[in-house]
Amino acid sequence: MLSEISTLARLEQLDTQTHQLQVRLTDLPKILTAEKKDVEAKKSHVDLLHAKLTANEKERRSLEDDIQLRQSKLKKLKIQLEHATSEAQVTAFEHEIQFNETGISRNEDRELELMEEAEILEPQLKSEQAALAISQKAGLEHFKAAGEEHKAGMAQMAANAATAKELLTALDPKYAALYERLRKKYKTGPILCEAIEGNCGVCQMALRLAFWQGVKAEPDKLWQCEECSRILVYNPAQFLA
Ligand SMILES: [Zn+2]
Repeated sequence: MLSEISTLARLEQLDTQTHQLQVRLTDLPKILTAEKKDVEAKKSHVDLLHAKLTANEKERRSLEDDIQLRQSKLKKLKIQLEHATSEAQVTAFEHEIQFNETGISRNEDRELELMEEAEILEPQLKSEQAALAISQKAGLEHFKAAGEEHKAGMAQMAANAATAKELLTALDPKYAALYERLRKKYKTGPILCEAIEGNCGVCQMALRLAFWQGVKAEPDKLWQCEECSRILVYNPAQFLA
């Protein structure tokens, strides 16, 4: 009997491992998807910063062009002013000079603002690009590792199924049938459980005194909890060598 309980315990171990693998393999794609989303979010932010910097540079170039244009205009206007022949011309040229000088000064102020903005954006973009590269590299590695884990998990589950089949075939059909019946009832939960201090270790039902004494006296006999029908094991370590 001891060997049969050991076989049942081994079957339970295999089933537990297979169940854990199923859960893990179901979670893996979700973990990868979450990681992918995180990388995509980082990428969008890098793209946004990049677009801001490009717009900043473009605006600075256009301001610079405008300043140069106004400066050459000013040169001409100052010559024209020297050669003005009437009060009205003087006023008109002065007005235009003033207009262009104001324009240049406004552009220079804006250029300063943009330079300050770029000074913040440039290191931010660099550090976020570096973080993105690290995340992308890690993502690829995790994707590859997940593929290998999936393959290994599938192989382990197939091996477990083959071992379980062998064990069930070698087992007394009565016990094999009991195991399969309990497995149907408790799909993921334990089938074998420890009898601890007179209680079923899972449903916590207090065992009848005579029953409990029997469990302790003949631990290698098949005992089933009268409440939940699970197979009670006294001192389980002896069955899991
Ligand atoms: Zn029980």
